[in-house]
Amino acid sequence: MQIEAVVCAFCSCLCDDITVTIEGDNIIQAKNACALGKAWFLDHSKTQALPVARINRLAATLEEGIDAAAEFLSNARYPVVYGLSSTSCEAQQKAVELAETLGSCIDCCTSVCHGPSGMSMQSIGEPTCTLGEVKNRADLVIYWGANPAESHPRHMARYAVSPKGMLVPNGRKDRTVVMVDVRPTLSSRAADLSLIIPPGKDFEIFWVLLAMVQGRVVGQDSVRDLGITYEELTDLAERMKSCHYGVLFYGQGLTQSAGKHMNAAAASLLVRELNKFTRFAILPMRGHGNVAGMDNVMTWQTGYPFAVNFSRGYPRFNPGEFTIVDVLNRGEVDAVLTVASDPMANLPKSAVKRLTEVPLIAIDTHESQTTRAARVSFMAATAGISAGGTAYRMDNIPLYMNKLVSSPFPSDEEILGRLLARVKELKG
Ligand code: SF4
Repeated sequence: MQIEAVVCAFCSCLCDDITVTIEGDNIIQAKNACALGKAWFLDHSKTQALPVARINRLAATLEEGIDAAAEFLSNARYPVVYGLSSTSCEAQQKAVELAETLGSCIDCCTSVCHGPSGMSMQSIGEPTCTLGEVKNRADLVIYWGANPAESHPRHMARYAVSPKGMLVPNGRKDRTVVMVDVRPTLSSRAADLSLIIPPGKDFEIFWVLLAMVQGRVVGQDSVRDLGITYEELTDLAERMKSCHYGVLFYGQGLTQSAGKHMNAAAASLLVRELNKFTRFAILPMRGHGNVAGMDNVMTWQTGYPFAVNFSRGYPRFNPGEFTIVDVLNRGEVDAVLTVASDPMANLPKSAVKRLTEVPLIAIDTHESQTTRAARVSFMAATAGISAGGTAYRMDNIPLYMNKLVSSPFPSDEEILGRLLARVKELKG
């Protein structure tokens, strides 16, 4: 059987032109998907031999797992719910309600990738657009601190560089592509102009570009230490001002280097200023399939996109205090629930150490370092393959993902719903 127009939810490009071929409950082909997407679709059934729940690594029923997990979470004084970037918005809603019921912290992978972008948006605003506008209008495309050829393999071909659009009918020929990074990457090959800048100089470079765009006098001396020539900077500022429709995509090279949210704020200020001369937008290159969805769900339910604490009965937001690495490093956490995430493999050593000391509950679609280390672990159906649900593309466009095949495992939404009901019983 073949199903067309399937959404790939591996990365936040959410390509929705995939044709999958299904035999039984297995996907055997994923036409149009990139190598990452193909692996995601074709490998989904590998965990089906595992039990639905395990307590201290021994097989258990779903009910036993729910009971044990609910006990750990209800008895904790400072529980934390974390992850949720690779699951559906429906599951994310349940997780927020669970965090509120527990009076816990809730944080998502945003805090270790584009959290600084969210913070800059709160202060500067977000001169944004959709990927459809980029495809149809953009004649200047800048990638800053991003390597889409490896992280989002179809981003350039499907949305930003090669597709033909309404106002760029010749596709690639009508566009100028600029890559700014600290080293040449695979993506550099796609660029008309590749600028290599030293690490940690992004903020100053944006500030100089802003001054140039505003027409202020910038002396050659003031750019001497920036690792980029005066001529390169004036050329880039001129290209930005004179394009018909520009877009600046930025990655973690900007948000996770020195300056963090100040870098993203400087980039947004520059783009805001450019709109006095032309049309320009800025978009973060969000990573996981539904990390943008988690920010949306958190924001509409709590008012904040990540790093939220419910311990006083109402949501409080404070990156640096309620972000996962910080609550683990301070040793305050006494129970952790992770969903669709592998913090044991990704967080710093000091935070991982705390994860090994407290009751860890993991819900995931496959075996990982976190599910192996967890006191209670659940195997879940994969959102977008064996469970339906909504996901948000990196430009905050929601797409519905149909269930393609059946699974022996319940969805994240169902597991979290049952956990929530049990926690409510225990909390009276
Ligand atoms: S670019 Fe991302 S969403 Fe598109 S097919 Fe590849 S992994 Fe899937």
